[in-house]
Amino acid sequence: MIVIKVGGSEGVDLDAVCADVAELVGRGERLVLVHGGSHLTNEVATALGHPPRFITSPSGYTSRLTDRRTIEIFEMVYCGQVNKGIVERLQARGVNAIGFSGIDGRVWQGPRKEAIRAVENGKTRVIRDNLTGKVETVNVSLLDTLLDGGYLPVLTPPAISDKGEAMNVDGDRAAAMTAIAMKSANLLILSNVPGVLCDFPDEASLIRHINSSEIDTVAREYAQGRMRIKLLGAQEALAGGVEQVVIGDARGDNPILRALAGEGTIISEQLTPAMAGGD
Ligand code: ADP
Repeated sequence: MIVIKVGGSEGVDLDAVCADVAELVGRGERLVLVHGGSHLTNEVATALGHPPRFITSPSGYTSRLTDRRTIEIFEMVYCGQVNKGIVERLQARGVNAIGFSGIDGRVWQGPRKEAIRAVENGKTRVIRDNLTGKVETVNVSLLDTLLDGGYLPVLTPPAISDKGEAMNVDGDRAAAMTAIAMKSANLLILSNVPGVLCDFPDEASLIRHINSSEIDTVAREYAQGRMRIKLLGAQEALAGGVEQVVIGDARGDNPILRALAGEGTIISEQLTPAMAGGD
């Protein structure tokens, strides 16, 4: 079982991602694809006169400020254009993909944050109308039913709150929860960088391996913004029993096969001799 999260940042090659998914499905691999849509959402939101706003938590994590209108735009793009675009690409390659959000079938459920703290100009303020939360439970029986029936689930935020509200969740952490719940050995997090860079944006400064005990230090010292959340997702996945997380590049050909071959940043509990090779 493999869970693959492909980001929605600029440069991500969805055709190449879908070609690799088709290849793996053809080999009989069981997998779930999770995707984002941040770049296109920002464009559409701006075009619709509701430009994106981001907030930074006191612990340094950046997230999208999500009011009701933002959730609506978010659904148009993530659940609409991006999700259906991926499903269409997979169908064209003979994969019987089925796309849906975390709301559908309560596939991703958890508590909504009633209030969050954000730092602005050095001051902390409390925001209450933010529709965000965290995935705590995954509807494994729904995903297993689909996989057993030969369908490939293509999942995207939003998720559903315990009270039944659509809420924005981080796609990387939702993918981590999905990998844990599905007892996946591998989680691939593919984005528009080669992996975790120790001197961002210098792409030659790729960190090849991170032990789980080093994640906090790497996140604090090297990762900014969104990369920190990917590392948090990786940490959660490993703590939940996933054997290996690869943060890899979704630009260019064979992004999934390359990540499975160890290209990118490999994050694992303990470095095995096989993984250590090639440095
Ligand atoms: P996606 O939408 O594909 O999930 P994100 O934009 O959320 O991707 O996160 C990837 C981004 O993280 C990169 O495009 C880069 O701007 C940023 N980033 C911050 N620090 C680092 C780092 N140390 N190494 C790599 N990327 C980093």
